Order: sequence, then structure tokens, then C-alpha cells
Amino acid sequence: MPPARPNIILITLDTVRADATPLGGSNPMPFLSKLAKEGTTFENAYTTFDSTPPAHFSMMTGFYGGWGAAPLDAKETSVPYQLAQLGYRTFGIAANGNLSLKTNIYLNAFDQYSCLYDEYTALDGAAKDATLKKADALLDHYGAAKDDFNRVMVSTPWEKVLEKFDRQVKPGKRPFFAFLNVIDAHDPYLPDPRSYNPAKEERRWNHTGFDADLRNRKGIWDPELQDPSKIADAEHRELVTETLKKTWGRVWSTTFDLNADEIAIYRNRYLYEVRALDQFLAGVFKVLADRGVLDSTVVIITADHGESLGEDHLISHSFNNMGERESTLHVPLLVVFPRSFGYTPKTVKTPVTVAAIAPTIYDIVGVDWEGITKMTLPTNIGRSLIAELGDRRPVYRVTAVVPKAPRTTPDERERTSSEAEKRLRSLGYIH
Ligand SMILES: [Zn+2]
Repeated sequence: MPPARPNIILITLDTVRADATPLGGSNPMPFLSKLAKEGTTFENAYTTFDSTPPAHFSMMTGFYGGWGAAPLDAKETSVPYQLAQLGYRTFGIAANGNLSLKTNIYLNAFDQYSCLYDEYTALDGAAKDATLKKADALLDHYGAAKDDFNRVMVSTPWEKVLEKFDRQVKPGKRPFFAFLNVIDAHDPYLPDPRSYNPAKEERRWNHTGFDADLRNRKGIWDPELQDPSKIADAEHRELVTETLKKTWGRVWSTTFDLNADEIAIYRNRYLYEVRALDQFLAGVFKVLADRGVLDSTVVIITADHGESLGEDHLISHSFNNMGERESTLHVPLLVVFPRSFGYTPKTVKTPVTVAAIAPTIYDIVGVDWEGITKMTLPTNIGRSLIAELGDRRPVYRVTAVVPKAPRTTPDERERTSSEAEKRLRSLGYIH
């Protein structure tokens, strides 16, 4: 008999496009390949937004749109809140600074929550020095700028998420809902030099003029890219201007100054960083096995968005959903059930979105989520994937309690949205 209240883990591999994994491509990740043989892979899974905060909002609420807006973005409309009604212990560990409690109302529903970015910025004294020393050694190795962005990105690796997860998992009467986010695949693409040797891994490509630091590379200061009105050729001027509209004006997110070899090197480093996340996934399952909860835990593995690596002259993500579709929006999605569920592993080709994740979790644990669907138009809510996963019909044991009136005060909402904007700016997405 499958457990009526299995533990649920939602893992988001930040910035991992589907074809960078064995779930949609050929990047070698042996552990993930093995998992795929035991679970259900959704080959055509798409995110709702090509940027972190609204994509995670969709996963954790089921709503396509509504991040930051009343009444949809509220603690009560989120998976952690609803699962707590069923007695679940809930905790989240996110590396991404855009997944802060200060910048997302719904995340405040978790019993316990860590944002590694916030913890990094709060460091001082010896702890800060030790972290900076390690970060700066890596940045120096690649000749990347020792700026705030690069430093925090290399100081919040998957190992820290796994360490915290390890401390949280314990067998007990209460099931848990865990949310884990790792950000290693995000730029800057600086693989661990202990396992990545550019002389060997990149011998096919010419390195002349290559700058490892994507955001601070010299090429972006080209006067014509800084001011496309100076471009003489009308067609090229139009192309650069239109591409810059997609990137909110970020020149570093375009590839006009890069040659094919430079793009290939960034791509190779990106793929290598994604590949390293196989160790993270293996680590999560080892913790579950060690604590004896493997047979009572459902694991969902996905990504919040992908990453363009030269497609449509774009590199990175967050293009207001106007970027190249496959690279930025097509994400991996794998659901692994304990054997006791008796589900047959399979591959599903039907297109689905990450907004299906919340309704699917509700159907797995038995939360009747009809009340949540009534908060919005039918076009704005994901559908449950329970039918694709197995033939078990949901047995509802609690009814979702949704707020009749917004419980978040206008002040709180205003503060959260201005914090979110500040964070997006400090992370370089908007000017
Ligand atoms: Zn992201």
C-alpha cells in the first residue's frame, strides 16, 4: 500500500534547459538517467515564464500568472500552506536570491525557509572573509571580476543546499514537503577547476579574445551595441534594436560581439555545470535512503526556465517570454514515486506546464483544490497530471482553505514588490 501522506520533494534545477539533461538531450548524468527509468518523464514540459520568481510562483500555486498580485499571490494559495493543513512539516532551501522571503509573499507559508543569497549577504567577520577567499580564488582562476554578483553566485553551490537538506530530513510521524533550489547552472559559467580542465575540455575551440566573465566581457562596450542607432546597416540595426528589447536593454545578454567559438565555450562550461548537478541529485536520494524514507517520498525534478546559448542572438534568460522558445522555456520534468505506488515508469509526450505541479501535488496527497481554481479564470490554472502518472484516483481528505479577503496588507505587498524589484536589479536583470 502506498503511504496516504508521502513526503514530497520539489527540486528546481535553476536555469537548466531540457536538452541539457538526459531527459531531453544527451548531457551525461548517469544518476538522473537511472531515476528516469524509475519515474515518469514529461518530455514536453514548459515553464510559464523565463524568469525565476513568476515561474516558481506557478509551480507552487498552480496559477500561470499572478505573482506579486492580490489575491492570487498569498501564503494561503501555496502548496506549503495547503500541505500544512494536512499535518505536513514544510521547509524550503533556495540558493537563488530571487527566491527570498522578502521578495515573495507565498514563500512565507513554509515552516522553515533558507535563502542562501540572504544568508551570504548577512555574513560578516571571519565567516565572510573565509567565504570571500574561496570565491575570489575561483574568480581569479577564470579571470572573472570580483564583484558582488559573481561572488554570491559562486558562494551558493549545491553542496550547501544538500548540507541543509541533510540536517532537515528525519524519520517521524509527520510527513514533510521540501522545496530545494540549486543555482549552479546559472551564469557565470565557471566549472570547478578540480574537475574541469579547459585545455582538455575546450581544445576544439580558439580562445583568442575569449572572456570567461559573460557579464563583464569587453565586447559589450562596443559603441554600436551600446547605442544601436549608430549602426549603419539598416537591417542589422533593426535586428540589434529588436533583440535588445527582448533583453530589457542588457547588452551582455546578446551575442552580437561573440564568435561561434566563444559561444561554444560558454555552452560547454554551462553543460558541464549542469552535469555536476547529477551529484546533487544522487546526494538527495542518498539522504532519503540513509534516513529510511526513500519508500515514502515522491520526488519531482524540474527547472524554472532554461538558458539561451546563442539562439536568436541571445545568451542567458529573462527575455520577457520573447526569447527563443525551446532554449528558454522547455524544461525537464520528472516525477519519481516510491515503488509502493506500483506506478509503471513511462515517458509522456503530451505538452504540460510547470503550473501543473501544484495541482498534481494536491491530488497525490489528497487536498481538494477546487476552491483554489475558483479564485481565477479556468485559463489561469494548471491541470493535475495524476492521470498521466498512474491510475490512482485522488482521495480528498481536506478541502483547500483559501482566503475570502486578502490577508496580506497593502503595505506588506508594496514592500515585497519593491524588494523584488531591487533584488532583480541587483542581480542585473533590470536596470
Ligand atoms: Zn531561475
